[in-house]
Amino acid sequence: MRVAVISDIHGNLHALEAVLADVTAEAPDEIWCLGDVVGYGPSPNECCARTREVSSLVLVGNHDLAAIGSISTEEFSPLALRSAEWTAEHLDAEHAAWLRGLAPEAARDGVELYHGSPRDPVWEYVLSEAVALLCLHDTKAPLVLVGHSHVALALGWDGRELDGGLSPAGTDVELGTRRWLVNPGSVGQPRDGDPRAAWLLIDIAAGRAAFRRVPYAIEQTQAEMRDGGLPDALADRLAHGV
Ligand code: ZN
Repeated sequence: MRVAVISDIHGNLHALEAVLADVTAEAPDEIWCLGDVVGYGPSPNECCARTREVSSLVLVGNHDLAAIGSISTEEFSPLALRSAEWTAEHLDAEHAAWLRGLAPEAARDGVELYHGSPRDPVWEYVLSEAVALLCLHDTKAPLVLVGHSHVALALGWDGRELDGGLSPAGTDVELGTRRWLVNPGSVGQPRDGDPRAAWLLIDIAAGRAAFRRVPYAIEQTQAEMRDGGLPDALADRLAHGV
């Protein structure tokens, strides 16, 4: 089976459509989304509709939960809080109800999926080897998929040492006999220095994972954010991938 993994779309429809065009060209069997469909970006309703339409599996993320009032926003930064309030105001009831029915974790044959991490599916960021090791220790599946940090990475564990690391565009990982923790990066708000939209193509039978990046009309998303009254700083960061 070949699966396209997307994550952290964050209401950025132009990024999502660019990714889906690239995904469609690869004709995967399924599309899985690791959560944060909304928050930060100007098109929460459109992103919910498209993600729901194309995905076989969708997790809920902390920004989705904040937008529907299901978690406290105490730990949000001021900008994240402002965008969560904006999203809550603009999200249609139909899409809020859909998000309310999703979970932050799931499992498929040989794969465990979390928005954050196995230890805290909603909030924990996996950005260090130490935390990745703890997460692999707490799981059993050969492949563990996480989102949330907006940083593409792949870390493989053979029982003795960790292999891999940050996974920029074009990284092609041979999964082999190691267990892997993999983050596809973010569709709508990359934070690894590459502003292009990120997604991951996994060929489970062949044991390969390919990290992809797609350019999109960043300035269109930025203009829509400013027109909609979202904070300038959130629009600015998209151009830098931070
Ligand atoms: Zn996110």
